[in-house]
Amino acid sequence: MATLPSSPSNLARLRFPLEGSRGRRYPEPVHPYRNEFQRDRDRIVHARAFRRLENKTQVFTPGLSDHFRNRLTHTIEVSQIARTVARALSLDEDFTEALALAHDIGHPPFGHAGEAELDRLMRRFGDRFDHNLHALRIVESFENPYPRFPGLNLTFEVREGIAKHSSDAVPAEYLPDLRPPLEAQLIDLCDEIAYNTADLDDGYVAGMIQIDAAREVEKFRELEEAAAMQFPGAPERVRVQEVVRGLIDWLVSGLIEGTIEAAAGIADVEEVRRAGRRIARFSPQTAAESASLKRFLHRTVYASGELDQARRESAGKIEIVFEAFLRDPKLMPANYLEESAGEPPQRVVCDYIAGMTDRFLVRTADQLFPSGRV
Ligand code: MG
Repeated sequence: MATLPSSPSNLARLRFPLEGSRGRRYPEPVHPYRNEFQRDRDRIVHARAFRRLENKTQVFTPGLSDHFRNRLTHTIEVSQIARTVARALSLDEDFTEALALAHDIGHPPFGHAGEAELDRLMRRFGDRFDHNLHALRIVESFENPYPRFPGLNLTFEVREGIAKHSSDAVPAEYLPDLRPPLEAQLIDLCDEIAYNTADLDDGYVAGMIQIDAAREVEKFRELEEAAAMQFPGAPERVRVQEVVRGLIDWLVSGLIEGTIEAAAGIADVEEVRRAGRRIARFSPQTAAESASLKRFLHRTVYASGELDQARRESAGKIEIVFEAFLRDPKLMPANYLEESAGEPPQRVVCDYIAGMTDRFLVRTADQLFPSGRV
């Protein structure tokens, strides 16, 4: 088990100061007992796009098992990991939580396959699909629960963090020359911890990962040997759980250590923002193991024939729905067409499909092309 420096709370100096927030686009009165980041978190949890995560694929489509992560349960895991890290580092836990809960709300149906297919379809028009920028459009304009302004009217920093989830190449308004606050930098790495360990777990349950094969990941082998020695009578499934738990803990500790190390000499939030690269990072050893785990998952899970088949089918459905809506936009709801007036037709179609759950996309494809007529 990694040992942490005795006082991880020494990053309190880099905690984003709430009073330094650039605030909301439309000013609102303060709430008596929830601060602005807590309100942002609550707005995200109550958003329709957040509820739709429940029916969006993470990696494994349901059917084989009811125990696979979907994008909602994945989001909860990321949020829990990110809060733990933020708290250990004395960063703003509410800010971190809001960003973790929002980090996947721009994801289209069918996981990565859906994103890649929408992007492919948009390139034909010299355009792109990016789920982080789509998430920004969701919170800025597609969600409309308030009578006084469009969108969720989130604070600038939460919108910036959503846009910069995995890259700082963002629209000018969101300060592409600056790094996001440390709280926002953590999310991408907590996401990586959550999905790598979850895919290992789900991949094992799906029968795609054998323990012997997984031993090529050094940390997996080490933890598995320890579990076998300590609990020789435990069923294999429980030993794997023990390993997954140990891996999460080890990677989280490595993220905390690596970030503290990288933050040495950084005096305040302004310096975090102006630094040449992001401060949040894994320690060298955990970074190497995380990469090794990712390579293993690519080969055994993501590139497997079963998932490839599912991906192909999903992409095919997205394509036929995209082309059908492009040919005849009136197939989309009238109120949506009204709201999106002025946008290029391919963008209107792309945004509409990106918002769909897996279930709704399949239903739409089936309605447009009753079986056998694709
Ligand atoms: Mg994610």
